Amino acid sequence: MATKRTDSYSRVVAIGIAAVMGILVSATTLTASASELATSGRASPVLAVATAVDLDNCPTLNKGAQGGCVVELQRLLIQQGHDPGTVDGDFGPKTDAAVTAFKKTLGMTGSSVGPQTKAALYTQKVTATSSNCPSVLSSGSRGGCVAYVQSRLNTVAGAGLAVDGRFGPATDKAARAFQKARCLSVDGKVGPDTKKHLVANTTTCSTPREATPAPTPKPTTPKPTTPAPTPKPPSSSGLTLTKAMSIPNPLFVGTSVSVKGIITSSVQITRVEAKIVAASGKVMYRATASPKAKTYDMKAMDKTLAFSKLSKGDYTFWVIATPSGKAAETLRQASFKVEDEMLACAKGTEDLNLFYVYVSGAKKKARLCALPNVRASGDESIPGHKYYVAGSNKRAIVRARYSKDFYNMTKAAQDAGITVKANSTYRTHQHQKDLCKEDAGCDGRTSYDDVAEPGTSRHEGGAAIDFNMGNGSKLHKWLKKNAGTYHIKEYSREYWHWEHK
Ligand SMILES: [Zn+2]
Repeated sequence: MATKRTDSYSRVVAIGIAAVMGILVSATTLTASASELATSGRASPVLAVATAVDLDNCPTLNKGAQGGCVVELQRLLIQQGHDPGTVDGDFGPKTDAAVTAFKKTLGMTGSSVGPQTKAALYTQKVTATSSNCPSVLSSGSRGGCVAYVQSRLNTVAGAGLAVDGRFGPATDKAARAFQKARCLSVDGKVGPDTKKHLVANTTTCSTPREATPAPTPKPTTPKPTTPAPTPKPPSSSGLTLTKAMSIPNPLFVGTSVSVKGIITSSVQITRVEAKIVAASGKVMYRATASPKAKTYDMKAMDKTLAFSKLSKGDYTFWVIATPSGKAAETLRQASFKVEDEMLACAKGTEDLNLFYVYVSGAKKKARLCALPNVRASGDESIPGHKYYVAGSNKRAIVRARYSKDFYNMTKAAQDAGITVKANSTYRTHQHQKDLCKEDAGCDGRTSYDDVAEPGTSRHEGGAAIDFNMGNGSKLHKWLKKNAGTYHIKEYSREYWHWEHK
């Protein structure tokens, strides 16, 4: 059954391995070997290097695997509170038991570490104060402890970070902004003090603000045993911003963000300004208010700050408030990127609206389009079916960014007098999960002949069509000859499955 047989794993895995190994191999060779790597259950010993390994660049890991990928796996398991034994890069019985226990918390069985488990190892939150977390998290740190910090920065400071367990530049920037707002040392290092503020959601400065980040020590001053900067009382205006909205980063074109946030102060607030500024400095949207009160609810600004109208680019969202008799203070400065994922549906296709798609395990919102010229029998195209995508009405469904190529290709085949019909096209995540449940082999152990792990099928990304045709049929021959022109290729082990490159 074409709808039950699904897809290779992401090619990115193979390419990532090649990058780590530092070997130049042709892309074709890599694609062909991806499944072997996934089934072998052994990470290449070449990966056993001191440099940090990202699990995304590792094959599916199973008992018996060895190397740097396993070291990273063991490190992450410890962070999640599981005991894989010695961190030795050996996927032995203890690591096997630890993986099984971790997967159980996700409602999964087995001990195979595929895309879904890998993603969870990075993003599954643990508390930042947990004894399993490093005492200081900073740029380059990874794992659930970082995910927790990111999530707290979003909740407490409205940082709008992607909770991906990777402490990158955006997290560093948000951590510094948070430290500044809480009068902590601004160094981007999330240590005990910063964690305490993040966890407790303090809203005021409880420790003195440092005058300058790195003052030159005076030779005459004896070095104090503990840092003791001159105490300075917190701002008497007590200006704070709470319950602020988080801005998804990236934000996709056309996505609305509701402006939220409560500004409070111990004195009257004379002015509030919120704005969205482009990287060029151009103010895209600005809202101002004169509350003349000690509290201000920012939702009144929602209609003026049109996040949904921003085009592709980099922006910063600012909230600035002025307490009576004081200087204006920046309460929020969140940078975010707007990405053009929700392109319009190509000419000739029909807009079905925005849906969730999965790309290499990551969930994102994207526009889906129906191909009016291609009848499809996939469940998503059948009105009334539980997976039905409203409006598709027995027609093929693809993501907007691929709609032009799929439409032009199928149209050209039809213009050449060939009948074009499809089985499965776009597939919902729930559908993929259900397929996986029905399939005993869907555990990441093998890459072929099994249903792809949920989140990894290209059907879930609206990037694949299973054509209803025979091997060597007229359509098959035509596709083999012409699909490349449209950046679409055949999956070597499933002649019916064609996906966008
Ligand atoms: Zn397929």
